[in-house]
Amino acid sequence: MLSTLIYRSRMSESLQESDLPGLLRAARGRNEERGVTGILLFDGAYFLQMLEGPEEAVQALFARISRDPRHGQVVLLLEDHAPRRRFPKWGMRLVDVRAHPQGLLDATLAGGMLRGAEARSEDRPFRLMQAFAAGRWREHAAECVLPETWRWDVLPAPFARLSPPERTEDVEAPCRFALQPIVDTARGRVSSLEALIRSPQGGPPQACFAGMGSDALYRFDLESKRHAFALASRIGLGACKLSINLLPMALVSVPDAVGRLVAQIEEAGLKPQQVMVEVTEDEAISHFEAFAVALKGLRAAGIGVAIDDFGAGFAGLSLLSRFQPDRLKIDRQIVTGIDADGPRQAIVRAIVECCRALGIATVAEGVERVEEWCWLQAAGVEFFQGYLFARPGLECVPDINWPVLR
Ligand code: C2E
Ligand code: MN
Ligand code: MN
Repeated sequence: MLSTLIYRSRMSESLQESDLPGLLRAARGRNEERGVTGILLFDGAYFLQMLEGPEEAVQALFARISRDPRHGQVVLLLEDHAPRRRFPKWGMRLVDVRAHPQGLLDATLAGGMLRGAEARSEDRPFRLMQAFAAGRWREHAAECVLPETWRWDVLPAPFARLSPPERTEDVEAPCRFALQPIVDTARGRVSSLEALIRSPQGGPPQACFAGMGSDALYRFDLESKRHAFALASRIGLGACKLSINLLPMALVSVPDAVGRLVAQIEEAGLKPQQVMVEVTEDEAISHFEAFAVALKGLRAAGIGVAIDDFGAGFAGLSLLSRFQPDRLKIDRQIVTGIDADGPRQAIVRAIVECCRALGIATVAEGVERVEEWCWLQAAGVEFFQGYLFARPGLECVPDINWPVLR
């Protein structure tokens, strides 16, 4: 099957502009043997390359390109299929977009393309090339360069370390909690701790909820939080918040759920302002009317609310349009590999923009690689959670891996 791939990358400092024609000549021969053709646009710093050819050949070539040190920040923008090549006659033409006034460039591009102007106007490859040539893409992109002046430091989290007897003080508890820091890397502080439920043996949330019918589950979910509050109180939250996860239905179907939650918070010696409730989209949206009543109660008590796993599931914008939380947590599915993924980058840019307009703080979940953090913070995401900084610690706050200025 004929496949089309477009990526953007940045020329490395080791490469000279004058090397380009020679490099391209060499590449052209190799690509032709494999049936890969295309076009390479260059603006003096960035490349936009379109490759066309048999699927496996295009993918193999792109894998090689991604590892090539002569350019960096490779971002995949489009991977698609087409009935025929757009540039059948061009081995691999280099177009310097600085040398072309816009109209001339359009004509040059059009000259290589088979279809008529009307079809082109809604052709994604063509539109991506036009946007690149016009420099418009820079509005949507963010750099992900880790400055030399950063280094990483493992620092102990600023909370009380619990000694083993304290940890096991609650041996009868039907559940335990792990704490994972949500960090504000710009200010070098822990913004909140997320309490993640564990079975008495330390197993995952599913192990803890296993075998419960829905009513028992909702009640248990709500009641379990007293252990999270007690833990938070033992380690001492300070200015940091505690985030808890609740099924929206736990707030809807348990009688006086908000009142019970507030009572638990006070029993542990915490304040409602120190607590944030994370809810996921789909549950909240399918029972929105009842959920809205619970939301009012939470807000009136001073408890913060976050939308969890934004972008996973089916109701992202639908929930956000009806209810604006204090915080929006961008799901790990969108975050993983964001530094090299054009579509996800565009989505996160739009989420950040939208949250800014609405005064909502953004959190990226599941950050595992430096490059992801780098891109996300350049794009304006404020808070980060993930293995890169710290894994959840069972009944403790683990040491945190911090990016610090040298
Ligand atoms: P969540 O609220 O999105 O929590 C984040 C999950 O991602 C946690 O999994 C955490 O361990 C994991 N995680 C954090 N950073 C990374 C990372 O960098 N990479 C990867 N691969 N994973 C990371 P966990 O603890 O297994 O929890 C899974 C889900 O279970 C939670 O997702 C939450 O929706 C739910 N859950 C946890 N505790 C509770 C609770 O008390 N009540 C309810 N209703 N649900 C809970
Ligand atoms: Mn959560
Ligand atoms: Mn989540």
